[in-house]
Amino acid sequence: MTSWLSIADVSKTFHSAKGPITALQNIHLSVREGEFVTVIGPSGCGKSTLLKIVAGLDTDHTGSVELGGSPVLKPGIDKGVIFQEPRLFPWLTVEKNIAANLSLRNPQVRKRVDTLIELVRLRGFAAAYPKELSGGMAQRVAIARALLRDPRILLLDEPFGALDAFTRAHMQESLLDILNGNRTPMIFVTHDIDEAVFLAHRVVILRPRPGSIHKIVPVPLPFPLKKSSPEFQQLRSTILSEFEQIEQLEQIQGAGI
Ligand code: ADP
Ligand code: MG
Repeated sequence: MTSWLSIADVSKTFHSAKGPITALQNIHLSVREGEFVTVIGPSGCGKSTLLKIVAGLDTDHTGSVELGGSPVLKPGIDKGVIFQEPRLFPWLTVEKNIAANLSLRNPQVRKRVDTLIELVRLRGFAAAYPKELSGGMAQRVAIARALLRDPRILLLDEPFGALDAFTRAHMQESLLDILNGNRTPMIFVTHDIDEAVFLAHRVVILRPRPGSIHKIVPVPLPFPLKKSSPEFQQLRSTILSEFEQIEQLEQIQGAGI
């Protein structure tokens, strides 16, 4: 399989009033077609910055990002981006939110929107307004909208962070169903270890100051994973012990040793 997304030697420095902050340093990461990568790490380690760079929302960095063989230079519909809050238009119905600026009078758009409504299990809610939806339903509208124009990759920044545990588990399963169906690769940022393992072929652990790749942990288990299985628990504790290492490194750095 060829690499679909290629992040090569990406570094990013913010210039704040307090001086420069190296948010990311020498990031190398490739994502293959149909591959699910989760990114996990302590707050401030550069997860959102990395996603924004891949989305083309931040181009002020060094190194290169290529998607499907072309450099990422700006945001666009080939990159489906989903944030923690669904960011729907409150004055538009579910189907109009999904269609975004395309007309539902176009039969092709109509058909695609109907298919997506089925896919994200919102049948019966096409004419509802965002205020009538639960958090999970609203986030599924955001996913459908991001999928409308067949993005080359889906980029999600803690999209289920505000949901209760049950809705969250259900959303994780539906996301995998949806993406396995059309082989869209994704990068999913989370700070929940269970979520990171459950959704991934590979878990990328970032560490802060400067934001860099600490370790990549493959998840060699068949889908769907059972969170109660010993294999799952094993991976979970592997990641936890990596976090402990990161903390120790931080303490050593903090002590100036
Ligand atoms: P995460 O998503 O992992 O919590 P971020 O990518 O948001 O981390 O931030 C990484 C680092 O870059 C942090 O130290 C943060 O304070 C800094 N940072 C992020 N955005 C900006 C900005 N617009 N200006 C200055 N510093 C920023
Ligand atoms: Mg963030």
